[in-house]
Amino acid sequence: MVLRELELRHFRNLGVQELSFPPEGVAVIGDNAQGKTNLLEAIYYLESFRSFRGAGDGELTAFSEEVFYLKGSVDGDAPTTVSAGFDRRRRKKKVSVNGSDALRLSSALGRLGAVVFSPSDVELVSGGPRLRRRFLDILLSLNRNGYVEALAGYRKALAQRNAALKANAAAAAVRAWDEGLVGHGARVTRMRHQWATTWSAPFASYCASISGCDRVAMTYRPDLGHGGNGARAGEEAFGADEDQVRERFRSRLAESRETDVRRGVTTTGPHRDELLLTITSRGRSLPARTYGSGGQRRTAALALRLAEAATIRQERGTEPILLLDDAFAELDEGRSRQVMELLGSEGTGQVVLTAPKESDARLRGPSLERWRIRRGVIEA
Ligand code: ATP
Ligand code: MG
Repeated sequence: MVLRELELRHFRNLGVQELSFPPEGVAVIGDNAQGKTNLLEAIYYLESFRSFRGAGDGELTAFSEEVFYLKGSVDGDAPTTVSAGFDRRRRKKKVSVNGSDALRLSSALGRLGAVVFSPSDVELVSGGPRLRRRFLDILLSLNRNGYVEALAGYRKALAQRNAALKANAAAAAVRAWDEGLVGHGARVTRMRHQWATTWSAPFASYCASISGCDRVAMTYRPDLGHGGNGARAGEEAFGADEDQVRERFRSRLAESRETDVRRGVTTTGPHRDELLLTITSRGRSLPARTYGSGGQRRTAALALRLAEAATIRQERGTEPILLLDDAFAELDEGRSRQVMELLGSEGTGQVVLTAPKESDARLRGPSLERWRIRRGVIEA
């Protein structure tokens, strides 16, 4: 996809502006705290309708305003216009595609086919499992039909079941939520498993080509895959057959029922999954989270984003728009060169990159048009 026009109204510090993007993309150069990340956040908002930095919609609204509005026009198979608005006072978000309001936000997701590469991605590797589940959830919500619904159904059943457990409700009142949990949860588990299985080899080879040497592996560890005694159950069960996953989930719920009642919370299910990243060194596999060097962790994080970009290419059949937020700031020159080469060899989509200095942009986007940004104002 190619982003053509972007209209900004009171999003963060960006004021009111209309921008026309070159099809190859642009390098946005500006000092710290001028609005570079805000611009990428605005673009990605039109893909996912939330901040990639995890900020609430209220925080995205300009300090002195009540409402922000964004509108983007993209060219793909067919030209598409996506817009989003938020009213802070009424806490209302409105989203529309080609001028008609989306009744469900989920039906408007993923229209840009964009991926953000950001320095904070390193947390995907060094942070806790929750961040990697979030990565999977966003990726699959944007790229796989049915995932959003399964995840929402699962979360709802989980919340209800936990509320019943916490209130010390009768066994039947807890059990009432089990089938919902099992049905949606099995789908979530299976879709996550499918993605991780498909992309674990490309992920490993991205890591290897960026670094020239690191052996990093990605494995999905569904919570349901662990036996009661911590043993691993047959991997194959999580691939094709959802019935088997459901059966497994049911028996896990039965096993942990007493624990759940005692602790007042559901202790098994995909909300406890792990997307495990390990580094092999001298024949030993160690978690990248704790054993990786800073550079190795950043490399693994970039490889996750490359896999995300490749997923868009495969699932949607379009070149992803790459939003590179000062992305290779802390990589050595060899590694950042490799990343750019990989990005270029996989496809030649539009690139919007930001950098504080011209010298940082040179390596990453020598031929891109240059824009300057100062106090939120962009000069083409
Ligand atoms: P760096 O190079 O340090 O990453 P940046 O150019 O990416 O900087 P941004 O994070 O895009 O900086 O923008 C930060 C600026 O945006 C800050 O000056 C901040 O005060 C301002 N800002 C953030 N939220 C809002 C808001 N809701 N309304 C107005 N200004 C905001
Ligand atoms: Mg920034």
